[in-house]
Amino acid sequence: MPFTTRFAPSPTGLLHLGHAFSALTAYEAARAAGGRFLLRIEGIDRGRCRPEFEAAIYEDLAWLGLEWEQPVRRQSEHMGEYAAALQKLVDRGLVYRCFRTRRDIAEAIASAPHGASGENFIGAPLPSAEERARVDAGEAFAWRLSLDQARAALGPAYAELEFEDETGPVLAVPERHGDAVLARKEFSTSYHLASVWDDALQGVSDVIRGEDLREAAHLHVLLQRLLELPAPRYRHHRLILGEDGKRLAKRNAALALRALREAGRSSQQLRALLGFS
Ligand code: GLU
Repeated sequence: MPFTTRFAPSPTGLLHLGHAFSALTAYEAARAAGGRFLLRIEGIDRGRCRPEFEAAIYEDLAWLGLEWEQPVRRQSEHMGEYAAALQKLVDRGLVYRCFRTRRDIAEAIASAPHGASGENFIGAPLPSAEERARVDAGEAFAWRLSLDQARAALGPAYAELEFEDETGPVLAVPERHGDAVLARKEFSTSYHLASVWDDALQGVSDVIRGEDLREAAHLHVLLQRLLELPAPRYRHHRLILGEDGKRLAKRNAALALRALREAGRSSQQLRALLGFS
C-alpha cells in the first residue's frame, strides 16, 4: 500500500494556524515518502457545518501551496455508508441504544464513587420490551459501542489490541472512552465511526493529526478490528498554542489563515513560522 495520508478538517469555522500546521505536516510527510495526500471534509454535523467554511478550506489550503487529489471526499455525501457500517455492529449485538440524556449521565457520574468522567460511561441495553416502547414513543437515543460485547467478540485478542504511533507500538485501552457513542438518533454517525470507515476506504496508511486526537486512536483501533478494517499507523503531532498557552480555537480569530493573509502575511512567512521552508 503506498504511503497515503490525509488532512480531515470539519467545515465548522475558518482554518487557523494550528490547522495549517497539521495540513502541512501531513502534506510534507506524503511528499517526503513519495506518497499520496488526501483532503477529506468531515461535515457530518449538519447543524454546525457551513458551505462558506468548506469553500474557505479549499481557498486557504491552496493559498498555503497545498495540492490534493480530486475528488475530495465529503462525508456529508456518504451518510448511508456510515449507517451501513453501524448496522454491521447492530447485527452483531456490539452496540446498544442508550436513552440516557447527557444530564442523566452527568448526574449518574456525580454520584459515582471515583470521579468517572462523562467520556467513560458504561451502560447496558434495556430489556427489549422497554426498548421497543421507547423507540416507538420517539424518544431520542444514542448508539453506544458495548465494551462488554466487544470483549466477548474478540476474546483474548481484545487485551492485545495495539496501534503503532511515533513512539512505537501502544497497547490500546478502549476503556478510556467507555461505551463510546457511535451514532445518535438524529445523526447516523459520530466522528469516530465515519473517520475510521473513511480512512480504510481511502487506503490511508498513515493518519497524521494533532496530539488532541491521540486518545481517539485507542477507540479507533477497536472499531477497525470489529469492522475488519486495516489499521493505519498513527502520528500525533504537537499542537500550536495561542498566546494564552491554550490550543487554538475559534476565539483566536486573529490567527485564522484568512485574517493573517488579509493582514499582509505571505504564505511563505506562515510556512517559515510553522517550521516549514
Ligand atoms: N475532523 C477532525 C477535526 O477537525 C479531524 C479528524 C482526524 O484527523 O482524525 O478535528
